Amino acid sequence: MLDQSLKEVLRTTSRHQRHLSNMGICTVNDLLCYFPRDYEDERHFTSVSQVKINEKNVLKGWVSSIQKKYSRNGKLLLSTIFSDTSGAIEVIWFNQPFIAEYLKAGDEVILSGRVVLNFGKISISNPTYEKVAKLQLHTARIVPIYPESLPITSKWLREKIYYLRDFLNQFQEYLPERTRKSQQLINLDEAMKEVHFPTDAGRLKIARHRLGFDELFMIQLLALKKRWQWMKDYQKKSCVIKVDNAAFEIFLNNLTFTLTNAQNRAIKEIYLDLERPYPMLRLLQGDVGSGKTVVAAAALLATIKSGYQGALMAPTEILAKQHLNSLSAILKKLNVNIELLIGSLSNKGKNIVIDGLKDGRINIVIGTHALIQDYIEFKNLGLAVIDEQHRFGVKQRDRLKDFGNPNLLNMTATPIPRTLALTLYGDQELSILDEMPKGRKLILTRIVPEHKRSDAYSWIREQVKNGQQVFVICPLIDESDVLEVKSAIQEYQRLANIIFPDLKIGLIHGKLTSEEKDLVMKNFASGEIEILVSTSVIEVGIDIPNASIIMIEGAERFGLAQLHQFRGRVGRGFTQSYCLLFPSNSAPESLNRLKALERHNSGFVLAEIDLKLRGPGEFFGLKQSGVPDLKMANLSDIQLIKKARQSAIEIIKEDPELNNYPEIRNKVVEFQKRYDVGLKVKSQK
Ligand code: ADP
Ligand code: MG
Repeated sequence: MLDQSLKEVLRTTSRHQRHLSNMGICTVNDLLCYFPRDYEDERHFTSVSQVKINEKNVLKGWVSSIQKKYSRNGKLLLSTIFSDTSGAIEVIWFNQPFIAEYLKAGDEVILSGRVVLNFGKISISNPTYEKVAKLQLHTARIVPIYPESLPITSKWLREKIYYLRDFLNQFQEYLPERTRKSQQLINLDEAMKEVHFPTDAGRLKIARHRLGFDELFMIQLLALKKRWQWMKDYQKKSCVIKVDNAAFEIFLNNLTFTLTNAQNRAIKEIYLDLERPYPMLRLLQGDVGSGKTVVAAAALLATIKSGYQGALMAPTEILAKQHLNSLSAILKKLNVNIELLIGSLSNKGKNIVIDGLKDGRINIVIGTHALIQDYIEFKNLGLAVIDEQHRFGVKQRDRLKDFGNPNLLNMTATPIPRTLALTLYGDQELSILDEMPKGRKLILTRIVPEHKRSDAYSWIREQVKNGQQVFVICPLIDESDVLEVKSAIQEYQRLANIIFPDLKIGLIHGKLTSEEKDLVMKNFASGEIEILVSTSVIEVGIDIPNASIIMIEGAERFGLAQLHQFRGRVGRGFTQSYCLLFPSNSAPESLNRLKALERHNSGFVLAEIDLKLRGPGEFFGLKQSGVPDLKMANLSDIQLIKKARQSAIEIIKEDPELNNYPEIRNKVVEFQKRYDVGLKVKSQK
């Protein structure tokens, strides 16, 4: 049985067992679903006389007796002469004494490795090796390379999976015939065999396609089920909102600008949602500066004009205050009572707001985490807006639902490519602001090589003397906040004491209290500080119209989307703005990636590029959980994602609880479980 414990069926050390279970691999099924990350095609042998220098060669022949030697620095090495009918080559293994026990003179073996030429002599170092036998697992086939986590090596996995190979027949097909037919998918057991023991490249591709489809299909099923549940649970929505067109007209007339088409479209989509008999669950995506706040304001307006309360939650106090200012301005003539609720208020101040929320005197509250404390009650919350939703945990976001299932509008400036958004947030509707307000100047972006650094500093000094202000972003350091703060302090001292002793330098980082941060930002806003050094964790949404230069140190360590967000801190005023990228190395691949920022100004385009170049894991950064650890599916494969979603929609429409599809239901449960374990393992790292 596939759910049999590995302890029962596998003979191995307790150390290996322990490691497996740490990796979330406990049953036969778990191990067989541990898929290769790559393959090496080792099917074709080269004869020694034909070897290609500096390339990988697969050789078949005989070894002479193995000699133990010591290198000049005392390391053990094994050497032997390998020969076939065409010639001979020296083989060297470093630090693998056990090979001397395994290979004896005269053994017929297959070797695979890079051949080098030194002083006219060819040799091969540390090749993979396997004796010729009826069965070759590690050579002479399309060899799977598994993700390794010592002591669990590819070699170990190949052997154990081979040992368990009969279990592969037990993978029962669970996809309905018509799904398999319409998507042209091979059977599950076949696909499972093929990924571990490929027969040829074509079959392997088809197998991976099938398993990739399965993963995406599961994700979509989960998302759609969740969405269906959401609609069902909340059918008796307490707050059906009737959009007040007259108020919306006044709102539009009060704006000092006209909305972009994208903003109009998003508001329309939201208004339709609000009038539906179940609560809205919508994600509003838009680059920094694309104008999400006005869209949120329009949604809040409709809500309060229907007699309900609205809330807007932001991740930091600075942002909350900024939202208070913008919303107060936008809704000025509409007779709305807006209040702020943040941790740094006095108890007295807090209590006034808390009471006002309870008795309904307050129409809109803007706040931080302070909004979701246990003692908070609303009279009738109709809409909750969450700015920078990924900065909050799932629990915190769910907490808002407790306030009587209000409509939810999530906002994010992270430009997630549509495919990924459908995969990660498949349970939400999506509105995208893919258009910037008119008249925005493009930010000029340049990569600055090290030898141009002092020129750049002189130029910056000139700009500051002309009244401009500058952001300096310090490098991301291994996701360690403490080190990052330390390096920001050092950079601050370097700039203040050595580079710009004549200018006013400020420093802001995550370890400051919120009063300290506010003070720094106030001084920056007033021009008291001319150059502000900041860690990467500091909130991006702050408006400093006079800041027109941003320089980013260690730029290649950030994702493109994140760099783009940093860049959004400037360019909010009337002068031409600049973004200077200082890479900490000049490796061609980092420079090439950064060049995308010189060329493109759309966060969505950059996100697509980054996703292609670095994959979804890197794209989101380690700490950003919520990205499923997909083994087979390529998250940039839009066609496959669409197919999987379509198939999932067909099934959920017909049978949302999967009563007629018990096999699918089991799979979904299992997938969810593995997915949760994956997240746990990730967060322990
Ligand atoms: P974000 O999407 O980053 O939250 P904001 O909502 O803060 O962007 O808007 C950025 C700036 O653009 C604000 O000063 C806002 O008043 C302005 N703005 C928003 N929409 C428009 C528009 N349609 N035309 C001109 N300016 C706009
Ligand atoms: Mg914003």
